[in-house]
Amino acid sequence: MSLEPTMLIKNISLSPMTKETDFIQHGFIYIKSGRIAAVGEGAYPTPYEQADKIIDGAGMVAIPGLINAHTHTPMSLLRGYADDLPLMEWLENIWAVEDRMTHEDMYWASMLSMAEMIKSGTTTFADMYFGMERIASGVEQSGLRAILAQGIIEGKIAVDEQLASSVSLVENRHNSASGRIQTMLSPHAPYTCSPDTIKKIIKQAEQLEVGIHTHLAETRDEINIIKEKYNNSPIGLMEELGLFTRHVIAAHGVYLSDEDIEILRKSKVGIIHNPKSNMKLASGIAPIATLLKEGVTVGLATDGSASNNVLDMFEEMRFASLLQKVSTEDPTSLTAYETLDMATSNGAKAVGLEKEIGTIEVGKKADITLVNLQKTHVSPVNEVVSHLVYAVKAEDVACTIVDGQILYEKGELLTIDEEEVMWQIDKIQKKLLS
Ligand SMILES: [Zn+2]
Repeated sequence: MSLEPTMLIKNISLSPMTKETDFIQHGFIYIKSGRIAAVGEGAYPTPYEQADKIIDGAGMVAIPGLINAHTHTPMSLLRGYADDLPLMEWLENIWAVEDRMTHEDMYWASMLSMAEMIKSGTTTFADMYFGMERIASGVEQSGLRAILAQGIIEGKIAVDEQLASSVSLVENRHNSASGRIQTMLSPHAPYTCSPDTIKKIIKQAEQLEVGIHTHLAETRDEINIIKEKYNNSPIGLMEELGLFTRHVIAAHGVYLSDEDIEILRKSKVGIIHNPKSNMKLASGIAPIATLLKEGVTVGLATDGSASNNVLDMFEEMRFASLLQKVSTEDPTSLTAYETLDMATSNGAKAVGLEKEIGTIEVGKKADITLVNLQKTHVSPVNEVVSHLVYAVKAEDVACTIVDGQILYEKGELLTIDEEEVMWQIDKIQKKLLS
């Protein structure tokens, strides 16, 4: 007989993110074999009392697990390093350390990021970096869901060699860890990969039937470089090269013309907004309110810890909404619901996983975050979704669940040895940075 672990979350309020009006004040969630088997309002059916695990959600709200749709997890090692410098100077400092990082260093830095994400309610992340085979083992252990891609940058290592390593990541890891790990190919950006390289990667992605994760239209400099070299916009160039025939995770989209937005609207692209990174590197303000109005799919993300400096999606939501309001001079732009949607349901669509995650509804994977609302800074609970975006802090996360497995509960990480990770990071930091 196969074991079918079941879980009941009772006495819980719920923002399932299926529709704005679908909020449940007092209800339950029943999980079976990693998927949501029932969601309801009021009392739960008595047989659910027999569940293997029962969580009393009184005073908490359940939301779909947060999706950090663009990050570079090993960059946690560079948190707070070379801050407040001009972009090029900052990058040179970062690259100098990255050149000395081993895959083992990247693994531990990535584990540090995963610990931070689990504790702040993130259940899925899309990662772009190097040393991804080792990081995939970390994802397997952590219990998180991830979309992993090995970044390709033209430079010291031949493109074919980098591509071969990306392909082997896909072959070894795509759909692994009971489907928690997905993979993509990743040309770093239009200014670090030539059109020929990008075309090669698209062809490979077609053969492997995977998506593509890249940076697009991040800075004014990028726009100028692409204009000068190819007499096009980054989005226009990618359209011409056929990038949008695949599902694309495109980080940033800060500088977009009306024509660019029209291309994005018609394509299988998820624009990923990274407001704190864009602010810290003084890149600019992405027109997120306009993109949503035009029907472009938009997800939310932290980017790497070197340009943020935390992987806290609650903070990211707050910055996203406030930044749109101040930049449009319109307090109604990017509402709390639209913002939470970018971090959950819309985010799932942006990374191409909307059939499996992003909402709390029957049949979906049980990726759920429970947030404690019995705190002074969220009292009284006038409006839950508003609190989630404008008031809740990462420390208010009470429980993080992926695939029906609890990764974090009662202040404790259940899949990652936090003490060991901190010890390893301290050692690596001393070796690389001090
Ligand atoms: Zn990035």
